[in-house]
Amino acid sequence: MPETPTPDSELTADQRKKVDKFMRGLKRRNPGEPEFHQAVVEVLETLTPFLDDHQKYRDGYILERMTEPDRIVSFRVTWQDDRGRIHADRAWRVQFNNSIGPYKGGLRFHPSVNQGVLKFLGFEQTFKNSLTGLPMGGAKGGANFNPKRRSDREVMRFCESLMIELHRHIGDDIDVPAGDIGVGARELGFMFGTYKRLANRFTGILTGKGLSFGGSHVRKEATGYGCVYFMEHMLNHIDDSVEGKTCIVSGSGNVALYAMQKLLNLGAKVVAASDSGGTIYDQDGIDRDKLEWLKDLKEKRRGRVSEYAEKFGCEYREGATPWSIPCDLAFPCATQNELDEEDAEELVKNGLVALAEGANMPSTHSAIRVFRRERILFGPGKAANAGGVAVSGLEQSQNALRLSWSAGEVEARLQGIVKEIHERCIEYGNHSDGHVDYLKGANIGGFVKVADAMLAYGVV
Ligand code: NDP
Repeated sequence: MPETPTPDSELTADQRKKVDKFMRGLKRRNPGEPEFHQAVVEVLETLTPFLDDHQKYRDGYILERMTEPDRIVSFRVTWQDDRGRIHADRAWRVQFNNSIGPYKGGLRFHPSVNQGVLKFLGFEQTFKNSLTGLPMGGAKGGANFNPKRRSDREVMRFCESLMIELHRHIGDDIDVPAGDIGVGARELGFMFGTYKRLANRFTGILTGKGLSFGGSHVRKEATGYGCVYFMEHMLNHIDDSVEGKTCIVSGSGNVALYAMQKLLNLGAKVVAASDSGGTIYDQDGIDRDKLEWLKDLKEKRRGRVSEYAEKFGCEYREGATPWSIPCDLAFPCATQNELDEEDAEELVKNGLVALAEGANMPSTHSAIRVFRRERILFGPGKAANAGGVAVSGLEQSQNALRLSWSAGEVEARLQGIVKEIHERCIEYGNHSDGHVDYLKGANIGGFVKVADAMLAYGVV
């Protein structure tokens, strides 16, 4: 007799047992890495029924292989601050899976970085890169260094020291890092300059580079733009659109700023943004002029959003996240686990229509359950923020061809890739009643290509 799903998920009791057993083993092998456990269980809960219907992946032990990184490099980064004091920070590069192309994924500089966080990011990156349709494997790296309140020279010394070790492990056909939290144009410039001196090669070993030395148009904007394009596709699919919607965005970094910009271009109203200090609530809307001011504050002056509230006289909620502010659309664009179950319940109560994750794993496991239970359109990070790595892939292509495409050409390609990601999610996440489960669609859609390549390679 066929088993019925348990009330809190689409898994049967037997499938739930399989997930629990796998997770017990994974936790035993990877102790003290809660973010990595969370990223894996999120995939398993949607993938398990698919695996039951496709025995070849179980026979090939694919899940066990895909949750074990190809390799992890960990190293000390020693540098001197402006007062001459010596610091020893720790850095990693997690090369997770290169089955479908050279490793690709950002570098993060933040005090919260540790091996488990980078493993979760590298695991997710493998699925995301696969979804783009481009030949890119998954990786992630970074350091527990905090660039905040450090002078440009201190950041330069740190980047140089890091690259002196990292350069041995990367290369245009091996592993091509990019930026992430705490790593923007300044840090990438310092790292690329150091690589070039060490290797005596001018080659595309990093993406997100400055336009004058091999960078791509629209790379800076790509993650935020892509996230909003993905949202537009989800809404178009139910005969709706972004235009006229009230939106809240968390964060005010690279992803958040350009998500806001694209939302304004598409006729939406953005009423909130944040940083780690608190949230601004501008009921009149963050218009184009205010956004330009905010970009200057964040990208050049490295200031706090509280200064926006002072400048434009809007509400500032110190220490708060934006999730209690009523909205139609929500865009978490700051960091992992920034939106929990209580936040999700409040968003739903306040009339949320859809959410697209600009950040990686910003919603906790129980928050996602709320969105799925309520059938909120939920665009998971793997799909919704893949625009950034997609344009990084296009930057690699331009570097290899020694060409520079126009902004219009890159953006058109970005739009095409996001459209295809959305179609892939529908292919694997469509329910018989027409509702699309984007989490399931992204997880299965990202899995299949990588898993098939791994099967083709034999026992590796
Ligand atoms: P940035 O460093 O440019 O900005 C990060 C923003 O998030 C800042 O406003 C920061 O505030 C806030 N933030 C960071 N940590 C916390 C925290 N613990 N609590 C509250 N706020 C926090 O990073 P990005 O915009 O590049 O990245 C944001 C997210 O998007 C990350 O999850 C990243 O992995 C993901 N992502 C980024 C891509 C890219 O192309 N850059 C591609 C795909 C995903 P403060 O300045 O106060 O720290």
